[in-house]
Amino acid sequence: MPAHPPAGRPDDGAEDALFGLEDIDTGQASRARADAGPLFRDSPTARRLLSVRAIFAEPAAAASPRGRQILARYPDAEIVPVASHWRIPDLHGNEGNVERWVRIKTETLVLGEKKTLATRPNGRSADWIAPGPANGCAMACAYCYVPRRKGYANPITVFTNIERTIAHLSRHIARLGPKPEANQCDPTAWVYDIGENSDCSVDALISDNVADLVRAFARWPAAKASFATKFVNPDLLLLDPRGRTRVRFSLMPQSDSKLLDIRTSPVESRIAAAGDFLDAGYEVHFNLSPVVLRPDWERDWSLLLRHMDDVLPARVKDQAAAEVIMLTHNKDLHDLNLGWHPRAEDVLWRPGVQQAKRSENGSWNVRYRGEVKAEAVATMRALVAAHAPWLRIRYAF
Ligand code: SF4
Repeated sequence: MPAHPPAGRPDDGAEDALFGLEDIDTGQASRARADAGPLFRDSPTARRLLSVRAIFAEPAAAASPRGRQILARYPDAEIVPVASHWRIPDLHGNEGNVERWVRIKTETLVLGEKKTLATRPNGRSADWIAPGPANGCAMACAYCYVPRRKGYANPITVFTNIERTIAHLSRHIARLGPKPEANQCDPTAWVYDIGENSDCSVDALISDNVADLVRAFARWPAAKASFATKFVNPDLLLLDPRGRTRVRFSLMPQSDSKLLDIRTSPVESRIAAAGDFLDAGYEVHFNLSPVVLRPDWERDWSLLLRHMDDVLPARVKDQAAAEVIMLTHNKDLHDLNLGWHPRAEDVLWRPGVQQAKRSENGSWNVRYRGEVKAEAVATMRALVAAHAPWLRIRYAF
């Protein structure tokens, strides 16, 4: 069983595509079920997370059907034309924005077109990392690596040319053909992570990009979409994923989540939603992550696992699997957090048990020391075996 899928085999060429663009259903308004009431994304709760007042938009993105759909959702927002979604000095600098970080995430959107489409091999959480529907997040987890891509005050950039992404994926899947052998990502389907740089549940509050991806994967028998989320968006229950989208609810003890997962749905509600998502046609997995080592962490993870064992229905347990991921932190993020949320650093920054390693982009990533991490991974495995033995661990590191 190869640890990684063959790298670089499929490319973005169109000639070998098995699926024509006419097969791809994009750019349509959501087809909510006839009996569905008002959409959650129009509720006061959703508006508290995203109350958009300014939209920085590339002209072509604003003029596109998806762009116009988004602008129509926020008729009172000021539209600010920008040459590129990558270079918006007011938003992307790190300095001066610390106090306004969360407000920028709430009140600002960026519309852009994804220029470069690339699918990268992964082999751990998914077989492949797909180009996503968006970049950035309206939530503000203190350990999140996503904000670093565009500076720390990084609101959501929605990519309005989702049809190009879907066409790219169609060609990629067609070139791969059937999955030759089972691996821990999935026994039969190529798994594509569509949420590397955003939280798809929140992206679905803004546009139909995620709905279009879910709909596309529902028609691709050799592939499966996958995304991790910390937000419960009931609108996703109105889609018809036909088992071809895996939702991975990220979980951690509520006391950690309260301190670190700023603006996310409560952990209990993520667990409570699992049955509904399964019934709606999703595969439901769990990310036990990040595991943050601090006093009594073992006790609180035990309580969480026991809670899962108590409340999750058998049908969820029967198909569930989990990823266990120890915290990775970052020196620059640590410095930034000290400016707006220093209490988080009491548990995230523990030099006595961590070691720093220079990353590819030159910043310092901080992880638990080898022996500390190995012991913690073994402890997590033992806790799962003791309290949630039905939960298969896909990988732990
Ligand atoms: S929900 Fe995910 S993407 Fe959003 S801030 Fe938290 S870790 Fe980052």
